[in-house]
Amino acid sequence: MTATRVRFAPSPTGYFHVGSARSALFNWFVARQADDGVFLLRIEDTDADRNREEWVDGIVEAMEWLGLHADEGPFRQSDNAPAHQAAIDQLFAGGYLYFCDCTGDAVQSRKGDNKTPGYDGFCRDRGLERSATTGIRFKTPLEGGTTVRDLIRGDVEFSHSVIDDFIIAKSSGAVLFALANVVDDRNDRITHVIRGEEHLPNTPKQILLWEALNAVTGVATPTPVYAHLPLLVNEQRKKLSKRKDPVATEQYRDEGYLPEAFVNYLALLGWSPRGDEEKVPVAQLIAEFRLEDVSHSPAFFDVKKLQHLNGEYIREMPLEQFIAHSMPWVSPDPAAWSPSALSLPWRPEQFDYERYATIAPLVQERISLMSEIAPMIDFLFLPEPPMDAEAFAKSVAKDETARVILRELAAELSTTSWDRDTLHACVVGVGERHEWNLRKTQAPVRCAVTGKLVGPPLFESMELLGRDETIRRIVDAAERAS
Ligand code: GLU
Repeated sequence: MTATRVRFAPSPTGYFHVGSARSALFNWFVARQADDGVFLLRIEDTDADRNREEWVDGIVEAMEWLGLHADEGPFRQSDNAPAHQAAIDQLFAGGYLYFCDCTGDAVQSRKGDNKTPGYDGFCRDRGLERSATTGIRFKTPLEGGTTVRDLIRGDVEFSHSVIDDFIIAKSSGAVLFALANVVDDRNDRITHVIRGEEHLPNTPKQILLWEALNAVTGVATPTPVYAHLPLLVNEQRKKLSKRKDPVATEQYRDEGYLPEAFVNYLALLGWSPRGDEEKVPVAQLIAEFRLEDVSHSPAFFDVKKLQHLNGEYIREMPLEQFIAHSMPWVSPDPAAWSPSALSLPWRPEQFDYERYATIAPLVQERISLMSEIAPMIDFLFLPEPPMDAEAFAKSVAKDETARVILRELAAELSTTSWDRDTLHACVVGVGERHEWNLRKTQAPVRCAVTGKLVGPPLFESMELLGRDETIRRIVDAAERAS
């Protein structure tokens, strides 16, 4: 039995796409459920024009965040250049390759009205030598076809008549994806290639290369098992767009998704665990996951569902854990990780940990993202409540009774005892005098105290803010509106 060896092989050309994160996760599942399975990380960094070092860091950090630790790597594909070159030399010696100096324009003009895509094989028998203008092409067999045995899609047949003599190295010497990826997979002894379905058309070419390398190197290894994961689509059932859809895993991390929730949600993209429960712990996901059960239909990346699931994960956290976990979104430690582009409403010295810890359980019940916390409780740390003008106009300014209520309440609050039940009774009592129910009475009070019409429970908030400050805000709101 060969030990299972899988790899995640991202190209560092941008943010860590959620589709890539799903590929990484499914590979990781397969490694974790096999005895001695190995999950390898290989950064495919050979496209110097499009790669950036910061994207490499982004991928590595986001994978750590998700808990997808590599057993081997991260390796750099660029370090394997000598192996790629050796493979090219061997394939040349075996008669599988040829030099070609056709420009794209030349190929096009030979085609005329013939719309057949791909290269026409013009240089195949010209016997060109290596030069500064020659790229290298693979001689795709003229007859027959190649079958991709795909665990998700079944057998997919590709006739060689539709596979052109594809380029494996450019005239600059740069080795292209199809070959570099196969050479590395062979050297890394990869048993399963699990990747997005956009790679399916590459796979017959890569099988041809793999078999050619088997023949010329004398090292015959079986081609890997393939599994091409379904496309991720948006609400309009269109392929997720880098520009229009939120596809960066880093962005989800910064908004305050929990890695456990994110992993759980990614697992549901094209696959589902047994039972009706969607919230499934990772150990169970690993135990139940089967590539054979992955669907080949496009999977809807439903941000609302993801956010809902995140809320469930937040609510089940023990309070201390919730508080500790939320600190980067309310009082970031300059020496530790913090969400990028975080803009807190308060200055660091205005934050009060004790006050936060007291309100935290009420916040925890109400949010589905960590980034929702600060705007919900800003009134507790700022000297003035950040007033929502529309809410103020609607609940305080427009209604004389509301202002009378605020003044009467301010007077009563100066003598009552200061606990949430008494505060509640007080607000109810003042409202009743004007035949206003609690709901109606609360609105101007809440707006005066917090600046908004929604937020954590009002009486707890007033209790926490303290008598003097609460009264001051209520009087201030009534006066401002008069
Ligand atoms: N570097 C390729 C990509 O990011 C890897 C594809 C593969 O997994 O083979 O799309």
